[in-house]
Amino acid sequence: MFAEVSTVRARFTMRLRCHNCHHTTLRTIESPDLEDAPCTVEELLESAWLQRQNFSCSQCETPVATLVSVKQEETVPAAA
Ligand SMILES: [Zn+2]
Repeated sequence: MFAEVSTVRARFTMRLRCHNCHHTTLRTIESPDLEDAPCTVEELLESAWLQRQNFSCSQCETPVATLVSVKQEETVPAAA
C-alpha cells in the first residue's frame, strides 16, 4: 500500500487583482520539496516557477492578473 507523500517546502498566499474586472483573488500555492522550488517569497518572485502557475480569475476567468502581495504561511512540519 502506498502512502501519499505530501512534502511541502513552503506555502504562499498570493493576492491577485484581475486585469478585467479588478476582482481580488486569493491564491494559495504550495512549493513542493523539489530542487528548483522556492522556499522564501524572494525566491518565489525571482523564480520562473511563479510564471508556471496557472491563474484564472474566480469572477470572470481572465488569466491575466496583477500580483498585489505575497505572504509566506507557516508550514506544519511533516510527521516523520
Ligand atoms: Zn476577473
